[in-house]
Amino acid sequence: MNVNTPIAGIGGIYKKYAGRLEKLGIKKLEDFLFHIPFRYEDFSLISKISSVQAGEIVTIQGEITEIKNEYTRKWKNLQKAKVADETDEIDIIWFNQPYIPKTLKKGDRVSLSGKVKFALNKLVLETPEFEVINGNTIHTGRLVPIYPETRGISSKWIRRQVYKLLHESDLISMDTMPNEILTKNSFMKLADALNKIHFPNSLDEVGEARKRLSFDELFMLQLKGIIKKEDWKKKTVTNSFKIVDFQNKIEEFLESLPFELTNAQKKAVEEILKDLKSKKPMNRLLEGDVGSGKTVVAAIAMHIACLNGFQSVIMAPTEILANQHFDTISKLLTPLGVTVALKTGSIKYKVASIKYKKEKIHNTNYIIKNTDILIGTHAVLSDKINFDKLGLVIIDEQQRFGVRQRSIIRGKGKSPHLLTMTATPIPRTIALTLYGDLDLSFLDEMPHGRKIVKTWLTPEEKRSGAYQWIEKELKKNKSQAFIICPFIEESETMTTVKAATKEFEILKTKIFPKLKLALLHGKLKSKEKEQILTDFKNKKYDILVATPVVEVGIDIPNATIMVIEASERFGLSQLHQLRGRVGRSNMQSYCLLFTEAKNTKTLERLRGMERIHIGAELAELDLRLRGPGEIFGTTQHGIAELKIASFSDLPLIQKAKKEAEDIFPKLKSYPKLSEKLQSENLSQISPD
Ligand code: ADP
Ligand code: MG
Repeated sequence: MNVNTPIAGIGGIYKKYAGRLEKLGIKKLEDFLFHIPFRYEDFSLISKISSVQAGEIVTIQGEITEIKNEYTRKWKNLQKAKVADETDEIDIIWFNQPYIPKTLKKGDRVSLSGKVKFALNKLVLETPEFEVINGNTIHTGRLVPIYPETRGISSKWIRRQVYKLLHESDLISMDTMPNEILTKNSFMKLADALNKIHFPNSLDEVGEARKRLSFDELFMLQLKGIIKKEDWKKKTVTNSFKIVDFQNKIEEFLESLPFELTNAQKKAVEEILKDLKSKKPMNRLLEGDVGSGKTVVAAIAMHIACLNGFQSVIMAPTEILANQHFDTISKLLTPLGVTVALKTGSIKYKVASIKYKKEKIHNTNYIIKNTDILIGTHAVLSDKINFDKLGLVIIDEQQRFGVRQRSIIRGKGKSPHLLTMTATPIPRTIALTLYGDLDLSFLDEMPHGRKIVKTWLTPEEKRSGAYQWIEKELKKNKSQAFIICPFIEESETMTTVKAATKEFEILKTKIFPKLKLALLHGKLKSKEKEQILTDFKNKKYDILVATPVVEVGIDIPNATIMVIEASERFGLSQLHQLRGRVGRSNMQSYCLLFTEAKNTKTLERLRGMERIHIGAELAELDLRLRGPGEIFGTTQHGIAELKIASFSDLPLIQKAKKEAEDIFPKLKSYPKLSEKLQSENLSQISPD
């Protein structure tokens, strides 16, 4: 079987499930093998029926002596069975799974794992995992792998696919790791590692297997990074954009800002300026936590570009954000004579004139000539938009864009400089090691005077008290609040909008009748959205009720309270992004996380928000604590997502880097490895 076959191409059940599997990152057969369990259920204790006791988690093996569906008033539908081994017999019960008596028949030899309970004076094995014994057991009687799941795709189903593939595919030829590396580091063979990560005999084996697979992932990432960096170096294309030093102009501009740049911002500006002066196109990632002030750094870079006579484009993932950048950047730069324009899906072309009056210009030939800076959404990718002298491309929230989009936008200039920006929560040391092909600037310092956003997990019983407190607080400080409605579906459909509208009505009429509220959701026309945000910024409203569309980038410094409904549905990084909408001034800000969740693990995860205020640390915690299928719309974290390896494993990352550097010059002697590198899309790892 070819493990590179795309799932949808296989047909049958795979075709039907292709969409769901893709959510789990499974696009081809091989991906099943690398869909790694996130924990194991210990069903390894196989007991004789006569010796099981209430409260134990056990596996029993025996013969079905009776099995039937039963209908009762209380449970509606029960499945009852009896299983006997040479020592005794035990009752088995399942609820509402009428298909079971069709799968299991009297006389079948079965293996069952689950918890033993005491009911009606008898021991019962309740809702056990089960399988008919023919050969090895995979769902019972062992350490059983539990996988990230999604609706309609259970661990049990995945387990069967993995088991089949492990047996049917040529794992040996899939192993491309040079032998010398394996021996030197005493790593397992790939075949062993895969077998053991899915069906281990002990947790120690899992550890060893995980190490090998993590190493592979990091090693490939490093190697691809090196190759890309070499490519970039080889590109002899020089920029035709001559940069003359405009230091005094820049200083003048800095003087005009209402604040002083942080040291981190100053350093980033210097690094960018140095790149712009070089003949090689810049390829720099500006990483900084939410609210660290990336936009102004971008504005300075574009100003420098403009002073030197070339154009810039900045692309943002949402209209709201593009509009906001248009406002901020026009305010900063139009007084200096820079022409700033906006292009989004719903706006043809809008130019901010020197007096910051917006006027519409229909640019007929679409060759943008008289504009220094174009700000926009994906709409700027349109092939109708061409530039006269595009010298600098900036991509904000770059993790939201695909590789193709990034390369289209760069293609609109002749080797333009590239600055990508992200709040991707990867610790600095790790990012430096991991993304060797990029130059990195870090804003590791918040603007002066920022206070930590006090965060409270707010259980249901405190809700009404919280509402009263919010009203008082807003009055006292003349500040504003966001209330984020629950995440209902991954993409914002009418269901979400309806729920938000209902919530909005209640908040407006029943809870905060004395305050002014507005509702913002993704289905509004972009004009309406813009108007609402402008009005909110101008303090026409006290509270903005919004669907999670406000997640990235919005900047309203007078807002000091962020309320998030059903916070358990969000990932910690998303919560951190949302929380980052407040705490953008010197005022004390607050974040209230409403939740009805009772599950201790979920609560523990959310409590992380009370303690931790650094995006990278929250991301790590999230990875460690979160269960599968619990969180909606997990946006990509950053440049590359690690599937198996952990960002916190610096020693292994360093080892992988070293080995990759050693192998790179002799790559030709490793045909299997080179072939694999070629077959994979190199541009997956970072913006190029
Ligand atoms: P992000 O890095 O999340 O994109 P923004 O660029 O939106 O952050 O900046 C957040 C807020 O901080 C904005 O209101 C901006 O004007 C302000 N800001 C940026 N730099 C500074 C600074 N050095 N001192 C004070 N405020 C700043
Ligand atoms: Mg931003």
